[in-house]
Amino acid sequence: MKIDYSVKIFEEAKKYIPGGVNSPVRAFKAVGGTPLFIRRGLGSRIVDIDGNEFIDFVGSWGPHILGHIPKIVKSAILEQIENGTSFGAPTVQEVRLAQLICEMVPSVEMVRLVNSGTEATMSAVRLARAFTRKNKIIKFAGCYHGHFDSFLVSAGSGALTFGVPTSPGVPESLAKDTLVARFNDIDSVYTLVKNNHDIAAIIIEPIAGNMGVVTPINNFLEKLRDICTENSILLIFDEVMTGFRIAMGGAQQKFGVLPDLTTLGKVIGGGLPVGAFGGKREIMELLAPNGPVYQAGTLSGNPLAVSAGQAILKFIHDNPHIYIALENKSKLLEDGIRENLRRFNKNFTLNRAGSMFTLFFTEKLVVDLDSAMTADTQLYAQYFHKMLERGIYLPCSQFEAVFLSYSHTEEEIKHFIKMQYEVFKELFE
Ligand SMILES: *Cc1c(COP(=O)(O)O)cnc(C)c1O
Repeated sequence: MKIDYSVKIFEEAKKYIPGGVNSPVRAFKAVGGTPLFIRRGLGSRIVDIDGNEFIDFVGSWGPHILGHIPKIVKSAILEQIENGTSFGAPTVQEVRLAQLICEMVPSVEMVRLVNSGTEATMSAVRLARAFTRKNKIIKFAGCYHGHFDSFLVSAGSGALTFGVPTSPGVPESLAKDTLVARFNDIDSVYTLVKNNHDIAAIIIEPIAGNMGVVTPINNFLEKLRDICTENSILLIFDEVMTGFRIAMGGAQQKFGVLPDLTTLGKVIGGGLPVGAFGGKREIMELLAPNGPVYQAGTLSGNPLAVSAGQAILKFIHDNPHIYIALENKSKLLEDGIRENLRRFNKNFTLNRAGSMFTLFFTEKLVVDLDSAMTADTQLYAQYFHKMLERGIYLPCSQFEAVFLSYSHTEEEIKHFIKMQYEVFKELFE
């Protein structure tokens, strides 16, 4: 595979942009090699600047549930662009997007639009603190909620119950207000709640996607809901990845567990920068200008971005069958991968939730961060590059979800399975 142009541009990029990328995962650090610069995408396909074409199983890390630039999104953007890009004043389109979100996400009565998932989670936590008049939050090891200071925290060791920064620049004084529990370990949550009386919120990815896909087991979410209700703690579902991906109403609809606040992003922007946080009216009404909790954004509810988002959500709203189609395609892929594993006698863990999944290169069940970390990341790196050479574009890290879109065809899925078989043959024979 010829990637001369990507190599050349990456060298230039590194002169002007730290690491040559505007978001670290893109740099291929976890798998080695040069990131491919992408020129265009359509449906399930992307083409890099050297002209190599791939079937894309990343989908911009989640947003492209219908594939790249579906006609409805293209025409919504083109229509809006004729009228201008930003006014810093209200538009009809943002009301329509907010209305669609409130109609489709079970627990959301009111919503505020922002520009990214990070902004959404950051603002949701501020709001939760204001509403409960408490300060601490609980998060789960391996869950990602964007790069706001309070979330860049891991569990303190030994006797420490408070969190410690995972990045320089995060003040310890702030990190100690973030407590870290284990995903799928309800006792770890009970312990934190028992020992701390100042907990404003528990924030969780209801299906984790950022340590690879890890699903909740043993009624984990129901139990969290009960703990929160009993202790006047707000439950925040970070559905930036799972919202409109797992079901029309997100993971909360699938599991029938309603959080107090929900954060959204990715799919709701149709590939443009949109995030949102929403929930119960009595909580949301605390936001400025109605209430005292400050939150704002020059480009929030940006007309171009919300036009794209509105087009996607309206399509989903009118075509609920896409989730059945997505499930069928994903099941086909799952079955093929399991068959490939069986043929090579590998008992690796495949975690799937709807159209997002992760093949962990470990024989341990993956239920939390510790078990995810048992995966053989070097083997994953080899697998990644061999798949890439065969025209399959996978996440450049073992700990990211693979995404299927509505535009992937049965033929492409069968092609994936065939290519994977060839790669396994090279790796395991
Ligand atoms: C992607 C993601 C975020 C961060 O969203 P950005 O738009 O990248 O800031 C937050 N939470 C979850 C669960 C995510 O998957």
